[in-house]
Amino acid sequence: MPGRHEFYINGAWVAPRAARGTFEVIDPSTEEPCATIALGGRADTDAAVAAARTALPGWMATPPGARLALVRRILAVYERRAEDMSRAISREMGAPIAMARDQQTPCGNWHIGNFIKAFDQIGWEVPLGAHAPEDRIIREAVGVVAMITPWNWPMNQITLKTIPALIAGCTMVLKPSEIAPLSALVYAEILDEAGVPKGVFNLVNGDGAGVGTDLSGHPDVDMVSFTGSTRAGQAISRHAAETLKRVHLELGGKGANLIFADADAKAVTRGVRHCFNNTGQSCNAPTRMLVQREVYDAAVATARDVALATRVASAHEQGGHIGPVVSRAQFDKVQRLIEAGIAEGARLVAGGPGRPEGLNRGYFVRPTVFADVTNDMTIAREEIFGPVLSILPFATEDEALAIANDTPYGLTNYVQSADPARRNRLARRLRAGMVEMNGKARGAGSPFGGMKMSGHGREGGVWGIEDFLEVKAVSGWGLAAAE
Ligand code: NAD
Repeated sequence: MPGRHEFYINGAWVAPRAARGTFEVIDPSTEEPCATIALGGRADTDAAVAAARTALPGWMATPPGARLALVRRILAVYERRAEDMSRAISREMGAPIAMARDQQTPCGNWHIGNFIKAFDQIGWEVPLGAHAPEDRIIREAVGVVAMITPWNWPMNQITLKTIPALIAGCTMVLKPSEIAPLSALVYAEILDEAGVPKGVFNLVNGDGAGVGTDLSGHPDVDMVSFTGSTRAGQAISRHAAETLKRVHLELGGKGANLIFADADAKAVTRGVRHCFNNTGQSCNAPTRMLVQREVYDAAVATARDVALATRVASAHEQGGHIGPVVSRAQFDKVQRLIEAGIAEGARLVAGGPGRPEGLNRGYFVRPTVFADVTNDMTIAREEIFGPVLSILPFATEDEALAIANDTPYGLTNYVQSADPARRNRLARRLRAGMVEMNGKARGAGSPFGGMKMSGHGREGGVWGIEDFLEVKAVSGWGLAAAE
């Protein structure tokens, strides 16, 4: 069976020192194991952190331009290995192969390219101002960074962390999701081929209770950058507090999509498709569709039609369908939440419990739409992480705003309206790290991140690089020094 039991430590693939056993990677389309990995133990984490610590002074002292040159080489190898990457992602987490090729793998290229563009905006050593000619502001690496990533957009998260950290001069230990570790193994091969110096990038596979916990409390780790569930983000924050590490958290979401009566004709269709993309497994999915009463019935009918027309099939089949959810645990959770929606009185207009017709094996979920949802129902409050949309009616702009903001989360909200003044008012008043309006995607280099229980810190572009930098204030700078 494929997979790799070694870890990438100090520039080499090495056998585990203290494995906590092996772990089967399950293909969610078939429910069959498709690979095995080793789960690292404390001695593996220690070895990887020690390698990163030893490599830190040299990498920090490498001129930023040379670090950028390495990132350009990584991009070239990443582009060449795109097909291997798409196959690994599709198999491990169930993205249909066409979607893996069109969206999952290319978001890595996109982020790497955007960081290369953002590089010029970083002032590595800049004067404080004309009033203080002997003062300098120096930006330098935070240090050794532990990176803990989820399975839903594996290369999105891994490139958003590793590339800006490399540019900043940090060294790192990556622990990818044990559920979807295959793409990260390909990524480690890419970095190795691109010539990342020994110890600068290390990878240890493991679970949250083992390597995840060891990394977040490790005294030689300066920062933890985490993407995943709010539950794990809280555990990591508590654990990291002992050593006062910098903690960056990208957590869950429960995005509201505010559809006004003057929205464009495609707004509802676009919103449902966005919610179902990646089988609903996106932290920024617009899962609560808030619709103004004048257009409510028509919107529910459209959403129903879109859900019924959404094909569900194996990740290995060609086509524009959606695949399974990632695991038995996710399947059971989504089923439980669909049942809760019915039990709490939401109106089921499409989908429902169980698998789609004709699919008896694999973690396949019926694309589901609930109407007449109220914001206190479980399906409006909890992140479902499956193809399940909740539709809620509203009368006025203020009511829509109140419903949208009444959530523990604050990641992405969406507004659909022809009225530019209303759009701008709502953009200012919605409590979320991102507001996307009228189907316009955020531009290259835009910062990604949340408020409230969606976490803190920003990834992407110049903000993403700054997250891995310390700011040092210097006075008495030697103006006569050659450099
Ligand atoms: P998860 O929190 O279970 O696991 C994520 C990672 O954390 C895995 O590598 C896991 O092994 C590790 N982990 C789990 N418990 C840990 C602990 N106590 N200490 C240290 N590490 C631990 O999440 P998941 O199920 O893999 O991913 C889905 C979640 O991620 C969703 O809630 C989703 O919204 C969120 N997410 C957020 C963003 C964002 O940028 N805001 C992006 C993608 C996913």
